Amino acid sequence: MQRIKNYINGEFCTPSSDKWLDNYNPAKGEVYSQLPNSQKEDVEKAVMAAKKAFPAWSATSLEERSQWMHKIADAIENKLVLLAEAESKDNGKPLSLALAVDIPRAMSNFRFYANALTQFASEAHESVGKNTINFTLRKPLGVVGCISPWNLPLYLFSWKIAPALAAGNCVVAKPSEVTPMTSYLLSEICKEIDFPEGVLNIVHGLGANCGQAIVEHPQIKAISFTGGTKTGEHIARTAAPMFKKLSLELGGKNPNLIFADCNYDKMLKTTVKSSFANQGQICLCGSRIFVEEKIYDQFKDDFVKAVKKLKVGDPSDAKSDLGALVSKEHLEKVQGYIEGAKDQEATILCGGKPVKVDGHENGYYLEPTIIEVKSNHCKLNQEEIFGPVVTMMPFKSEEQALEFANDVRYGLSSTIWTSNIDRAMRLSNSIEAGIVWVNTWLNRDLRTPFGGSKDSGVGREGGFEALKFFTEPKNICISYEAY
Ligand code: NAD
Repeated sequence: MQRIKNYINGEFCTPSSDKWLDNYNPAKGEVYSQLPNSQKEDVEKAVMAAKKAFPAWSATSLEERSQWMHKIADAIENKLVLLAEAESKDNGKPLSLALAVDIPRAMSNFRFYANALTQFASEAHESVGKNTINFTLRKPLGVVGCISPWNLPLYLFSWKIAPALAAGNCVVAKPSEVTPMTSYLLSEICKEIDFPEGVLNIVHGLGANCGQAIVEHPQIKAISFTGGTKTGEHIARTAAPMFKKLSLELGGKNPNLIFADCNYDKMLKTTVKSSFANQGQICLCGSRIFVEEKIYDQFKDDFVKAVKKLKVGDPSDAKSDLGALVSKEHLEKVQGYIEGAKDQEATILCGGKPVKVDGHENGYYLEPTIIEVKSNHCKLNQEEIFGPVVTMMPFKSEEQALEFANDVRYGLSSTIWTSNIDRAMRLSNSIEAGIVWVNTWLNRDLRTPFGGSKDSGVGREGGFEALKFFTEPKNICISYEAY
């Protein structure tokens, strides 16, 4: 069985404890590889390698750094199929999705920051009358930690690593223990292109020891984390006494507000996607659907009909719309929410049951599920399920739609469907979320800030925001003698 290794100081290493974790293929429910169960000692080695590499890497010219980033992007592009197959096997997502979205986006993350780093300028402020000029340099932080989740493995891993490296930092990164394969393949890419040793170090292992060791390490100056809100809280508490910089991209329970005046066909098609893409395991999925009363019944019929047509199946089959959920534990957690629907006076409109896929009988498949709820205060509407489950209920007015949207602890993203531009602007301004989509969903421009408010996290990724996060501003003020 294949054993993937840590990548430290440009070398592949076994974990110091020689302990390994099983890695599952969720589509088949079977172990197919193993990963290091790394401990504090392995993280220590990675931090030391990163620290040693930092002076040279931070001193590389922008052109040279940019070329390295382009080389990684080129290699990802050249290995599209290999990486997409690995992602699909590790995560259970449809291969078609990994080919069209996950891996191209990982490539774009490196490509984007290869270019952005050359445009990231210092600011200068002349204080007229005082004969001073201030200029603000942005210095890399040193060694930074990047910790990512399982739902979009290489996509989110690279979304952190690319700006961190572009800004001149050296990185100790940990992918999710549930989906380590593509980050391991990324380390193979680094080896193949002779990427400078120690600049990027990848350690595999569990959050509680390997991840924790990264967060606790005093030499790591910043943590960029994407994952659950509970883990984010724990990381914030651990890192606070060391005054580490934190970017925390956490959970969501995103509202999808549908008004009667919207472009109905576009809305319906997009809502099927925004509810169930990647088995509903995208932090940006619209998991709470609120529909204006006058079109509620029509939408309900059409939505249920459309969702019943979705095919759950082998992720490598191009006809599968949904693949497997990421793990048995996660499947059981999601099923627990569905089973709880009865106690919340909620009605399952479609789905709700596990699916047996021919030849993959032990895989973790679940029907796409729509649940009609009576109140926005029920558990199904307040807790993040993070699976192929959406809730729906009607609203009477714009005010009520806004109240429902905001009455939740999360504030990641939201979607509004309306042709009324005034309403779209009013709601966009008032919705408590870091991202608002109007008449579209998951439309991303990499220059724009990405992140949430409330319990969905702190900080923003994307564009120059990420380069700002991974640098320390240093202001220099010069006084000069005037004529
Ligand atoms: P998780 O919080 O369980 O794990 C995320 C990562 O943190 C993993 O690599 C894990 O090993 C590590 N980790 C766990 N405990 C740790 C600790 N004590 N110290 C350091 N690291 C630790 O999340 P998950 O189950 O992998 O991912 C699903 C969650 O991620 C969902 O809540 C989803 O909404 C969220 N998510 C958010 C965004 C966003 O951009 N806001 C994007 C994707 C996923």
